[in-house]
Amino acid sequence: MSGNKSIGCSVRECKFHVESSNLCSLENIMVTKHGQGKSIECTDCASFKARN
Ligand code: SF4
Repeated sequence: MSGNKSIGCSVRECKFHVESSNLCSLENIMVTKHGQGKSIECTDCASFKARN
């Protein structure tokens, strides 16, 4: 599986993660937020799907 060089990602638990390059294999992703905070912990990748 090849990765998208424009989307670095370290979430190994996601089925779209490319282990060898630490990239996302999707063409694009959707990033969302939760809560009202402004910290990095308040952002999520909405394209995440758990690895089987
Ligand atoms: S979908 Fe999101 S969490 Fe999954 S590999 Fe791509 S960027 Fe990472």
